[in-house]
Parts: sequence; C-alpha cells; structure tokens
Amino acid sequence: MKWKPDTCKCEINFDGNWDIPSQVKIKKCSVHLDLTDDAISFNKIYINENQIKNKFLGEVLKVPELRKEVIDEEGNINYKLKDGLKYNWSFDAKRKLQAEIIGLTNLEKSSLQMIIDTKLGLNKVDII
Ligand SMILES: [Zn+2]
Repeated sequence: MKWKPDTCKCEINFDGNWDIPSQVKIKKCSVHLDLTDDAISFNKIYINENQIKNKFLGEVLKVPELRKEVIDEEGNINYKLKDGLKYNWSFDAKRKLQAEIIGLTNLEKSSLQMIIDTKLGLNKVDII
C-alpha cells in the first residue's frame, strides 16, 4: 500500500502493517532526508505532522465563537469554521506547525494559542 501525506512530498510504502519497521519503506522528500527508512520515521511524519494539523483544526472547532453548525443529510451536526475565517498551514524549518486562521483578531489569536498549548502541548503549534 502507498500513502502520500499532504504535509510533504514523502512517499510511504508498506506491506500490510505499518507498525512493523521492516515492512515500511519511505521514499524521502527533501525535508525528511535525515529520517531513517522505517516505521519510526513514518510515525514522525504521520503523527507529528499530518495529525497535528488536523488536531489543531479539531481544537479550533471546539471554540463556539469560531465555528458554525452544518447539518448533513443524515441530520448529524458538524462544525466548520464560521464564515470569514480560513485555515492555512505550513511547517517551519524545524517542522513545527505554523497555523494561520485568516480573519482572527490578535486577541483571538493569543487566546487560541493558549487553548492550543493546553490541549496539544507547549511548542507544538505557532499561531501566526
Ligand atoms: Zn517528507
């Protein structure tokens, strides 16, 4: 099976179980050249980078002032960023998430940074 993260240009190939190091092969992109070619590296890319950008948005959508309700065809309530806000993300040279919610005031950004530091851990995400 092949998986391409949307956070970088690596290509991860694995036979069945990605927890078994010998079964994971990574075609490394330029920012991940120093990683080893195994499951430990896969977890770094997957958990540290791919998941953190999604977890960040998940936390933002728990803040009532920043979201709107969208009801799907089955009647379930989903949350999206409220109108006027837009989420952009990138990673800095040390592969730390740089998250931008366009449309927030500086005050909203700093209070969101405090929430994120509490929920996701200190120094995981910079809100820019
Ligand atoms: Zn990569």
